[in-house]
Amino acid sequence: MASQDEGWIKTTCAYCGVGCGIEARPKLSGELEIRGDKAHPSNYGKLCTKGIALGETVIHDGRMLSPTLKTEQGDVTISWDEATAKVAEGFTRTLREHGPESVAFYVSGQLLTEDYYVANKLIKGFMGSANIDSNSRLCMASSVVGHKRAFGSDTVPICYEDLEQAEMVVIVGSNLAWCHPVLFQRLRTAKQSNPALNIVVIDPRRTDTCDIANTHLALASGSDVALFNGLLAHLAEHNALDNDFIASHTTGFDDALSKAQDQAAQSQTDIEHITQLSTAQLNDFYHAFANTERVVTVYSQGVNQSSSGSDKVNAILNCHLASGKIGKPGSGPFSVTGQPNAMGGREVGALANTLTAHMEFDEPEHLRLVSEFWDTDNLAQKPGLKAIEMFDAIDSGKIKAVWIMATNPMVSLPNSEKIKSALTKCPLVVVSDCIAETETTRLADIVLPAQGWSEKSGTVTNSERRISRQRRILPSPGQAKPDWWIVSQVAKKMGYANAFDYQHEGEIFREYTHLTCVGNEQGQRDLNLIGLTHLNDQGYSRLTPQQWPVSQLQAQPVTQRLFGDGRFYTPDERARFIGVSFTAPIAKTDIQTPLILNSGRSRDHWHTMSRTGLSAKLAEHASEPYVQIHPKTAAQFSIKDNQLAWVTNPQGCTLVRANVTTDVSPQQLFMPIHWNETTAKNSKPCTLIANTTDAISGQPEFKHSSVSISPFISKSCAIFISNKTMSLSKTDSNIDYWVRQKVPQGYLYRIESSVSVSQLISELTPYLETQNHRQLSNESRKDGARWITLDKEHVTQLLFIQDRFKNSEIATMIEAFNQPLTLLEANEIVHDLSVDNDLFVSV
Ligand code: SF4
Repeated sequence: MASQDEGWIKTTCAYCGVGCGIEARPKLSGELEIRGDKAHPSNYGKLCTKGIALGETVIHDGRMLSPTLKTEQGDVTISWDEATAKVAEGFTRTLREHGPESVAFYVSGQLLTEDYYVANKLIKGFMGSANIDSNSRLCMASSVVGHKRAFGSDTVPICYEDLEQAEMVVIVGSNLAWCHPVLFQRLRTAKQSNPALNIVVIDPRRTDTCDIANTHLALASGSDVALFNGLLAHLAEHNALDNDFIASHTTGFDDALSKAQDQAAQSQTDIEHITQLSTAQLNDFYHAFANTERVVTVYSQGVNQSSSGSDKVNAILNCHLASGKIGKPGSGPFSVTGQPNAMGGREVGALANTLTAHMEFDEPEHLRLVSEFWDTDNLAQKPGLKAIEMFDAIDSGKIKAVWIMATNPMVSLPNSEKIKSALTKCPLVVVSDCIAETETTRLADIVLPAQGWSEKSGTVTNSERRISRQRRILPSPGQAKPDWWIVSQVAKKMGYANAFDYQHEGEIFREYTHLTCVGNEQGQRDLNLIGLTHLNDQGYSRLTPQQWPVSQLQAQPVTQRLFGDGRFYTPDERARFIGVSFTAPIAKTDIQTPLILNSGRSRDHWHTMSRTGLSAKLAEHASEPYVQIHPKTAAQFSIKDNQLAWVTNPQGCTLVRANVTTDVSPQQLFMPIHWNETTAKNSKPCTLIANTTDAISGQPEFKHSSVSISPFISKSCAIFISNKTMSLSKTDSNIDYWVRQKVPQGYLYRIESSVSVSQLISELTPYLETQNHRQLSNESRKDGARWITLDKEHVTQLLFIQDRFKNSEIATMIEAFNQPLTLLEANEIVHDLSVDNDLFVSV
């Protein structure tokens, strides 16, 4: 749909759960012009660096172009008809021989709602298995459990506007400034116009989010339940309960309070000890929460990614229920979602333990309604395996056929070695993805090319329950197809043609909206899209953002919050307090692994970098994997700032650049999650994360792994810039470390090794282009060697090897790369760069 300005097409950002509205317009170069959509009520025209750079990432580098059979003899390109027939035949045979427990889908918050819907319908509705889980399990599952336990439904009650209407905003376990930047911008603007707005950041680490905070509470990792139990006890002790609300709209308060008071003991000593916060810090926070009417608590992965994540969520919800700070403007708990469509997946039911459309397996009536609606007699009757359990079952041979869609579990799930073992053994691994070469596609039997952002069309739901259209703007390369189409083709070939005879994504959306209304005539469920059930194709095409529940089509953006009437989605319509007690994180430090590793995101990268890794601009912010380490700890372990260091535990090891900073406490390290074997060597943090999960939500404990650290002794370095990506990961290589960074017109590799400069020269020169290229090599220097490879008048490769580099030298090389150069100019570059004692990178 074109906006008023000719050529601009309204769509939604591909990254985080803020779900910003974007306007995009194709450029002659094949890239896109991008600007914020001023009419979108979630961002009002604002975008962060990732959103702005989306236009650079639509290039086709690395795209998967055709369905391919991976055989021992090599890759064989096949037609869509053959590919979908093979997938259908593989799943049909597995079901026939081993039953519904033997198949699984592992899907992604990158999928659109329509894609999710058909995948969920196929496996739960027709294959009879609920073994479908989304990578949202890694970021949201504990919030889903917390919501369902307290509210009877997976409901985020608030809207973004509440951040601006609050008097106090508590941010727990979230680096909002980097992970949800536009929400952070809205909050910063709110603080500028209302300096009295009290912002409290609760995070073991000092992050950029603290820049706008009145207070930063650097609590001990994993101690949130104790902190919020202390708050609940304080509310009761200081007459700050909303007794009317508790009496009229909730159950279970006495048990929750009693557990909280046990925790609080008499004098808070226990809580001080557990949280490592002082009495004054605790009292100030508790007093402010108790005495402020409008409080929003924003929370994210620091709460969810924990072995006690579900209890942490309920500890927060208990405090909001007890003080009546819910369902009112400027008040409420606010779980911010990580991925662009994690919410859409939760809505259609792409988690193993939910049925669909906020209906549940433990409700016989829901099973009946869904069976009838889908016209199937083979609906799964019980929950399936959650992500970690699913890959354990693949590893043990129980699951024999898996289809992985739009995600890279080899990089994103904990304990990569175990995932590799599972996928290597599995008789049928199907992967549909945009990217050809990922650690997961390498282990597939069949790969299927899917459309990417800017090519696909459908809907996504953001963190404030707002459904927005993602629109097709550019043609797809090769034979890439929409995920819903791929799944439907397979479903038809499995014999379910009637149920999957979709012509376009609008038909799927319409069916889904009708499903949200089935058995929901009296408002039994929160998710109700009745106002969208009459959309025709044109209406779907032109759909503007809609915030659910949608009782009638919202011609103008609306702002609604739930639970304002004190009615919840439990059988007695009362919210439930959940009594929770602090339990320590599972990983313990010891002599071998004396430090705690926290993991998270860097500002300008997303997940496994398959998209952000294509933007030279985004790569500038953090060009290498790094570990934050406190100066005292660095001294103790002989680590210097900017030096490479091994972070290890019995499960694995990673080699990353040390960033010595007081932002982390002496006991803690922090590492971003993005790098992997496609973009670096020896630098994949998930190798260190244990399989330990929250017992109820199944969400892995990404924030608390025990590790050690030691310095890497580097003897030689290289900077290698090439106009193509290179495969440097030979197992016998003397290259201990390399990392790839996108630069204009090519890719820069930073390389370090424990071998001498001369040995590294022998290792790297075979990668220099020789055919139809001229090579310039300056005189042999005892401290290194340099090459420039020219193709006509363009530099196609630069290789400099020496013992270390300055940042300024690297910048000069990037600038020189692929510029038209005379031989003389090229030689000048070779000679001009000098060496001094600085290491070559800063993070
Ligand atoms: Fe995209 Fe999130 Fe940035 Fe908005 S805040 S532009 S949704 S990455």
